[in-house]
Amino acid sequence: LRNSHLTTTVRELRDALAESRRAGARIGLVPTMGAFHEGHLSLMRAARRGCDVVVVSLFVNPTQFGEATDLAMYPRDEQRDLALAAREDVDFVFAPHTAEIYPDGFATTVTVAGLITESLEAAHRGREHFDGVTTVVAKLLNIVAPDVAYFGQKDAQQAVVIRRMVADLNISVEIEICPSVRAPDGLALSSRNARLSGDERVRATALHRGLARAATLAAAGERDAATILAAARVELEDAEIEPEYFELVDSETLMPMSTLNGRPATAVIAARVGEIRLIDNEPLQLQGEA
Ligand code: AMP
Repeated sequence: LRNSHLTTTVRELRDALAESRRAGARIGLVPTMGAFHEGHLSLMRAARRGCDVVVVSLFVNPTQFGEATDLAMYPRDEQRDLALAAREDVDFVFAPHTAEIYPDGFATTVTVAGLITESLEAAHRGREHFDGVTTVVAKLLNIVAPDVAYFGQKDAQQAVVIRRMVADLNISVEIEICPSVRAPDGLALSSRNARLSGDERVRATALHRGLARAATLAAAGERDAATILAAARVELEDAEIEPEYFELVDSETLMPMSTLNGRPATAVIAARVGEIRLIDNEPLQLQGEA
């Protein structure tokens, strides 16, 4: 087992990658905010399989947090993260200080406009959230210039927004979206799960049960979104969870769908369980689809 090379400055990382790049190596980037769990590790494994050089960025990006407490409470354990990255045979961990990413005088924001950055997460966290995400991801893509960047389906809206930005700005990178990794009881892994109490942790499994119910009904041929969601909501009510949103949306435009019409659709949900805000989603397979 060798250590992943830790870099904290843009200069250092670019210098370290220069030789591989000249030699034509395929470079993969996994952007993260640290506090690694199996979801993050699955992205690193996908990058390891698909690329010659794997870079993991570890940066808790302040500009994408609306709530100061959420930022302050965000779990940080760099030593543990470095050990986990090494175990996945990651070549470089890029863990910059905030001032390396946002030096004095920093003045640029990358904004993706329209429904995809206004609905769902943005309606509850503010659209500044996605400005924070797109600005930092644009910077990371420019810093690393990877051939492929890996993101999780867990953050479905983020994936849609990043694909839009990459297309609109002609950024030369492939975007690969990896499936959500779940606990055995279905709860999608998240760094925030650690903050759930024992009781909340049990109730939180209702998010996945609601999504699974919706997926089952869609697979069985039900096409009416209201019918599907009414049945699925029972799972949440039983756990005394009032979702912030629970909708069937077009997977590409994120437009709410009242009827499943054959276009790719995803069930999306967000809910607070106690103080902790959780999100999850499930792409729907309609009857007759493979
Ligand atoms: P984060 O550190 O929370 O910003 O997440 C870094 C990357 O890991 C993002 O692309 C997330 O979508 C992805 N991710 C987070 N949780 C999961 C999960 N349970 N399964 C798969 N990917 C995930």
